[in-house]
Amino acid sequence: MTGIRIGRLFGIDVAVHPSWFLVLVFFAFALANGFFPNTYPHWSVATTWTVATAATLLLFVSVLAHEFGHSLVARSQGIPVRNITLFILGGVAQLTREPDSPGREAWMAIAGPLVSVAVAAGSLGAAWLLPGPEQLVAVLAYLGVANAILVVFNLLPGFPLDGGRVLRALLWRITHDRSRATAWSTTVGRAFGWAFMALGGVQILVGGNLGGIWLIFIGWMLIQAAKATAQQTMAEERLAGVSAATLMTTPESWLSPYMTLDWAARDRLRDWDTRCLPVSPEDAESEYGGLMCARDLQRAARERYDRDRVRDVMTPAPKLPAVTPETEAADVLRLLRERETDRAVVVDRGGHLLGFIDVDAFSRYLNAARRPRRLSPPSTAA
Ligand SMILES: [Zn+2]
Repeated sequence: MTGIRIGRLFGIDVAVHPSWFLVLVFFAFALANGFFPNTYPHWSVATTWTVATAATLLLFVSVLAHEFGHSLVARSQGIPVRNITLFILGGVAQLTREPDSPGREAWMAIAGPLVSVAVAAGSLGAAWLLPGPEQLVAVLAYLGVANAILVVFNLLPGFPLDGGRVLRALLWRITHDRSRATAWSTTVGRAFGWAFMALGGVQILVGGNLGGIWLIFIGWMLIQAAKATAQQTMAEERLAGVSAATLMTTPESWLSPYMTLDWAARDRLRDWDTRCLPVSPEDAESEYGGLMCARDLQRAARERYDRDRVRDVMTPAPKLPAVTPETEAADVLRLLRERETDRAVVVDRGGHLLGFIDVDAFSRYLNAARRPRRLSPPSTAA
């Protein structure tokens, strides 16, 4: 999931998905028009809105604290966290890889809700103990209740919710089979998604309450997230035993770094199969200068094709992760994710270029593997 980057904390980028703004507006609106005026009818409109906005922003901070709970535990286990994105279901910490044992997975999953429990207990305790002012107590009480709800929702045992991750860890420990555990827990996740949608439907049709739309939306998001996780796990499973050599393309020709994009497009990358080509080095010591893909042409401005050169748009050698033909495909994919790039070079033990892997090679391989293989050549008439 991609979002708008808003800052960096503990070395982790924090981003917000557009859907999160919907949540913010919805919560601020619901608080300012329902919860606070009902509980404190004597507040002025300005006070109500100020308190509602403050409460919503603090809720945002506590969801972030929840995600940092997951992320910091992940990092302590040696799993780098790329970023934290806040979206409609709360937050998601994007890990560069999955935990390698059920115990680690469970500990990582529970760390977030533990932070939320602490925030809920702290806020409710403070609301109880503080003598005032009334507005502060109201915000603290709301934060306490909201975080408690957050804990309950996140602990539902459907993947990819935290409770679903705990369920997966349990099933993983029992069956010793991570992909089966993922399949089962994502199925439960989908079931919860459908249950939310059904509940929302009943609320609208029977109760005439439009708040049901919210439940339908949450259910739908949950189903999508469970589906995406199941697909990703299946892809990783199909890539098991596949090495970089299988996915590698051997260069058919080379591009000069000084070639204009016009020339590269017309002369070399015109062929649809030639998706990427290596670029010759600019100094005698290097073996290659970089890698250019047809995708780079699409990203470049069309009107500058006659002036911009290959070296301006290619991925330069220092930015290209290098793997050997024996590297496992899943590890190559992980490396691409970690280095935030879409291509890697394949080199032999001496560092000599053998070929390259473009990110599209993975989907091409998976699609080809899905198609049934033809068993015998078409028969010919005798
Ligand atoms: Zn969580």
